[in-house]
Amino acid sequence: MSKQIDIAALASAVCAGDRRALARAITLVESTRADHRIQAEALLEELPAARPSGTGETAGEGIRIGITGAPGVGKSTFIEAFGSHLTSLGLRLAVLAVDPSSSRTGGSILGDKTRMEELSRNPNAFIRPSPAGRSLGGVARRTREAMVLVEAAGHDVTIVETVGVGQSEYAVADMVDIFILLVAPGGGDELQGIKRGIMELADLLVVNKADGNMLEGANHAAADYRNALNLIRPKSAGWRAEVYLASALQGSGLAEIWQTVKRFQTTLAEDGGARRSRSAQARRWLWEEIQDDLRAELRSDRGSAALISEREKQVGAGTVTPTAAAREILAAFLRRDENS
Ligand code: GDP
Repeated sequence: MSKQIDIAALASAVCAGDRRALARAITLVESTRADHRIQAEALLEELPAARPSGTGETAGEGIRIGITGAPGVGKSTFIEAFGSHLTSLGLRLAVLAVDPSSSRTGGSILGDKTRMEELSRNPNAFIRPSPAGRSLGGVARRTREAMVLVEAAGHDVTIVETVGVGQSEYAVADMVDIFILLVAPGGGDELQGIKRGIMELADLLVVNKADGNMLEGANHAAADYRNALNLIRPKSAGWRAEVYLASALQGSGLAEIWQTVKRFQTTLAEDGGARRSRSAQARRWLWEEIQDDLRAELRSDRGSAALISEREKQVGAGTVTPTAAAREILAAFLRRDENS
């Protein structure tokens, strides 16, 4: 990407729905280069804060849907089918991914080119795989910014997909309006493989693969999940997690799930929950940015390097406590900053 990038022109091309400009803009926010970060921030500043939806299908702003589930439950098949249902209603859809495994292996599971083939050819769908080679925190930050960009580009619905491993569900749940946990009928004890913490995040639980000889198992699983969810305190006062059956392969259950997403959105909009949730998310985002930036400044601060390296060794050897070392390093850094 050239240095003389025209930020205002890029912003207006993004807002006009230019897909190539959008792809370039996302590449810019994903970049770790310092000059790119400055340009990315300028770009985000240029965008309108919120965009009213023109379709009438969504209430006001675009809706952000998080989808998680263990590998193999059918996430990409489901997003392909559900996404095609949404575009058939005249909605524009963006699919982003938070895939922490991609930062470890260098290759993204969610970015696999064979996934969502049909949707990726759909002019009303925009699919972006997870940026590789980063920490989960880094991926999550950049995905939030990518979400702002796709919404500015006129997408009514943004799906953020994540694999059901590690901490990524928490990061995704904290950047979306509604969080869907996708499961598949297993043989026997359905709940065993699902962490309770993940169940607590779910606003909607979808038992996929409710078809053929798995239909009966899916019904049993749905009953088990309903019972389990009844024991969990709801995330918000106005909504208790609901359980639905679907077959991504046959396309069944999708319309009902979309109706439920919209009902969720209007329910939470009415009691103010949606606004509260977004504003709490924005405040947490602010503190994550402060934390990450401060850490990055400290790590790259030459004047702190010697002290950090010495205290790291001592903490490792157990001769100094992490708390004392952290306080000392930070105090020295801030004092130096004051004097400079
Ligand atoms: P992901 O790893 O969660 O993204 O799962 P995939 O979408 O790749 O699906 C895993 C496997 O489950 C594939 O073989 C799909 O064809 C199959 N699958 C996905 N959805 C359904 C469904 O609704 N019914 C049935 N029978 N199979 C499904």
